[in-house]
Amino acid sequence: MLRTKMKQKTICLADPSICTGCGACVSVCPKACIQMMQDKEGFLQPQIDIIACIECHKCEKTCPIINPKPISTEFKTQAYSAINKNENIRMQSSSGGAFYALAKWIIEQDGVVFGARWDENWEVMHDYAEDLDGVRAFMRSKYVQSKVGVTYEQAKKFLQQDRWVLYSGTPCQLAGLNAFLGGDYPKLLQVDLICHGVPSPKVWRSYLECYLKDEKIIDINMRDKTNGWMSEMFTLKTSSATQSVGLINNPYYKGFGHSVYLRLSCYNCHFRTFHRNSDITLADYWGVDEFNPKMYDNKGTSIILIHSNKGYTIINLLAEKFILCSEKKEDILYYNRSANGLNPIPNKWKRYFRWFRLFSFKGAKHVIDRDTIPTIIIRKCKKIKKRLGIYNKCAKKT
Ligand SMILES: Cc1cc2nc3c(=O)[nH]c(=O)nc-3n(C[C@H](O)[C@H](O)[C@H](O)COP(=O)(O)OP(=O)(O)OC[C@H]3O[C@@H](n4cnc5c(N)ncnc54)[C@H](O)[C@@H]3O)c2cc1C
Ligand code: SF4
Ligand code: SF4
Ligand code: SF4
Repeated sequence: MLRTKMKQKTICLADPSICTGCGACVSVCPKACIQMMQDKEGFLQPQIDIIACIECHKCEKTCPIINPKPISTEFKTQAYSAINKNENIRMQSSSGGAFYALAKWIIEQDGVVFGARWDENWEVMHDYAEDLDGVRAFMRSKYVQSKVGVTYEQAKKFLQQDRWVLYSGTPCQLAGLNAFLGGDYPKLLQVDLICHGVPSPKVWRSYLECYLKDEKIIDINMRDKTNGWMSEMFTLKTSSATQSVGLINNPYYKGFGHSVYLRLSCYNCHFRTFHRNSDITLADYWGVDEFNPKMYDNKGTSIILIHSNKGYTIINLLAEKFILCSEKKEDILYYNRSANGLNPIPNKWKRYFRWFRLFSFKGAKHVIDRDTIPTIIIRKCKKIKKRLGIYNKCAKKT
């Protein structure tokens, strides 16, 4: 499963089919001789400069895919539903506004928050913020793979200055950070997500070019709750107009939701588990209307999974900011397939990229549209299965 990068030198990084693009190998290389380069589908892959490499093997030893860290069992994961009492914040967030409450607490401790934001070209990158204005840019889910850049090194620097650091991102990014840091930092709060997977940044760029031409983008909200959390819209604001459509009618979101153009590692992802090495996992509580209606008002309910004493202490300190309710694992995972094991690669992945490479997003759109089962039908089938007593077997396994 490993790829040999050189003939004479035997440096083997994770194979592109399982490499998550976390960038830990890049950050750890003492000669700065690994670069992240776009592959033909548009995902960043590490490339080694064989001339500059000194064969120290630090990159291989650090790679969290080659050397996965066993999941700690010291703390038994606890599950909660959560609603941020600040209605404004919740409406601006994708779920129940849990991320902002955690980030605010870190800022109040004179700490630093890392998260994913749009850059000036409307691509997604990781960055840090030392005030709440900066934190606002990290709010809301951006369904594109984010570039971690030099944020692992920056986080280490702040931790060494004895400051609190909240690092938020996908579970594979947190695994990359952990591998790079290589030790425990009492003031590091690791916040990951239940993660469906990340689409190709090149597909995202092509979508914007096809549908926006030269219009200037003012704002993008992939989870606009104006019509309610259950009727979310994909909203694009440009200098001349605002386009808002239901998620499933937006071709980019549809391709993401149906896993048509995710990174290969997302179809073989071992981070999609209930127990984690992070402190806290955030997610959407799909099915809250059915399992715990008192926590449902169609404005967004978060799932908070606590995996450590540190996570537990901080959530307790913030308890008054939330309406919190203890939940059963089976309920919160019932409609959330992304924490329930693997997401098999669809047959159309290769076909999609063949068309995409030749004809860009618009020319490959028919591949997204064909043979996709609407989410509403999947949900209805699950409801029927539940009524018949056929409970989600995967949820019980994780
Ligand atoms: C790519 C992706 C896939 C997801 N898949 C699922 C899923 O299958 N099921 C589910 O329940 N929840 C999923 N989520 C999480 C969910 O969408 C919410 O982000 C989460 O519930 C937190 O919501 P919030 O209201 O607390 O805060 P919000 O303010 O909505 O969330 C902001 C947080 O998301 C992070 N973030 C935003 N975009 C990215 C990105 N591209 N890469 C890394 N981090 C990012 C920010 O750094 C910040 O920590 C996914 C999120 C992302 C980014
Ligand atoms: S072996 Fe050492 S020098 Fe060579 S790429 Fe890996 S980390 Fe860099
Ligand atoms: S460290 Fe991350 S980016 Fe580097 S090879 Fe491993 S998974 Fe890929
Ligand atoms: S599905 Fe797995 S590999 Fe893909 S972005 Fe999420 S955590 Fe990383």
